[in-house]
Amino acid sequence: MKHLTILGATGSIGTSTLEIVAAHPDRFRIEALTAGANLELFARQIERFSPRLAVVHDEKLAAELAAMLPAGVKPAIMFGVEGLIAAATMTEAEMVVAAIVGAAGLVPTAAAIKAGKDIALANKETLVTAGHLFMELIQRHGVRLYPVDSEHSAVFQSMAGHRCADIARIILTASGGPFLNLPLPALAAVTIEDALNHPNWSMGRKITIDSATMMNKGLEVIEARWLFALPPEKITVNIHPQSIVHSMVEYVDGSVIAQLGTPDMRAPIAYALSYPERITTGVKPLDLTAFAGLTFFKPDTERFPALRLAYRALADGESMPAVMNAANELAVEAFLQGRIGFTAIPELIERVMDAHQPCRLNSIADILETDLWSRVKTRELLPV
Ligand code: NAD
Ligand code: MG
Repeated sequence: MKHLTILGATGSIGTSTLEIVAAHPDRFRIEALTAGANLELFARQIERFSPRLAVVHDEKLAAELAAMLPAGVKPAIMFGVEGLIAAATMTEAEMVVAAIVGAAGLVPTAAAIKAGKDIALANKETLVTAGHLFMELIQRHGVRLYPVDSEHSAVFQSMAGHRCADIARIILTASGGPFLNLPLPALAAVTIEDALNHPNWSMGRKITIDSATMMNKGLEVIEARWLFALPPEKITVNIHPQSIVHSMVEYVDGSVIAQLGTPDMRAPIAYALSYPERITTGVKPLDLTAFAGLTFFKPDTERFPALRLAYRALADGESMPAVMNAANELAVEAFLQGRIGFTAIPELIERVMDAHQPCRLNSIADILETDLWSRVKTRELLPV
């Protein structure tokens, strides 16, 4: 029996994780769940999985949640960062599923590592903002880090039994999102609904917009740099519109090993939860004969400047990825509020990066300070 905490239980990854848990009651037990403000779904999850601890965003929501739960369902209820840390460090939990979106996942995930918990990592923004510190913490506390992101899970699976030293490069695949074939001049006028309409994956709103700009792939390049300790020149991206090959590893002998499957996050989530075993997931079996062809091509950085920005952030190093990440979070939020257009997202991020002098980050506190600097700068540059 593996005892789990899920940070971000009501999100897209959180709910898929709970589907896997529900299908394997003999394998997994939920100790703590955290959510933001979606109390209706959260209350149903608490009734179904009986965690010892439930955490929401603030005190008012905590009181509302307590009032919603039926008699007999009585988890401890906490709120805010203190609650997230309590959930992440609970004595009874062995593994923490980090599925909060954005840099908000940083502090609880770091706390989980320090408390000796293994991590199933969906929250890529933590590695983007604080990759070197996180990998150091993981080493120091001797915990295991399992990727949930489908591309990184594919690379991890394609590396099994191989030596890192034999890797020539990894090839992360990207669907290209909803605007892959849109004429370039039309990009500036796309609507929020167009951008949220991802062709292959159903995900949270922020990552769906990141997929449309391809900042998601940029964040994944940085995530891969830390997860697999590879230099940026060994991390390449191919557009693969069918999202069937989830990523590949090329070895020095010219062999390429890939992982394939129907695009469904339950597969990489289950692998992270049950590694090294494989368990049933409910994912539709892949029928390659149903496809007219699988295609691959190089990304166009004129269409997707965000990808170029991510490689630049890696090259600049130090604090630049954290600055890029925070600027992206605010730019995406501004787009989703209808305050800026689609093409303004990477433009805004680049202006914030141009205004930043990279500096060394030695602690999580340094990262939070840089994250805040970037948010203040981005707000200054946003239209009022
Ligand atoms: P989502 O928006 O659907 O869910 C986010 C969860 O985090 C929710 O439970 C929400 O209540 C909680 N949350 C949000 N902000 C919070 C805050 N400030 N404090 C505490 N809790 C907060 O997001 P998602 O699509 O599930 O993505 C989660 C993470 O997984 C992201 O980092 C994303 O990049 C990554 N990821 C997602 C997918 C996917 O298919 N959805 C795939 C790969 C990686
Ligand atoms: Mg991914």
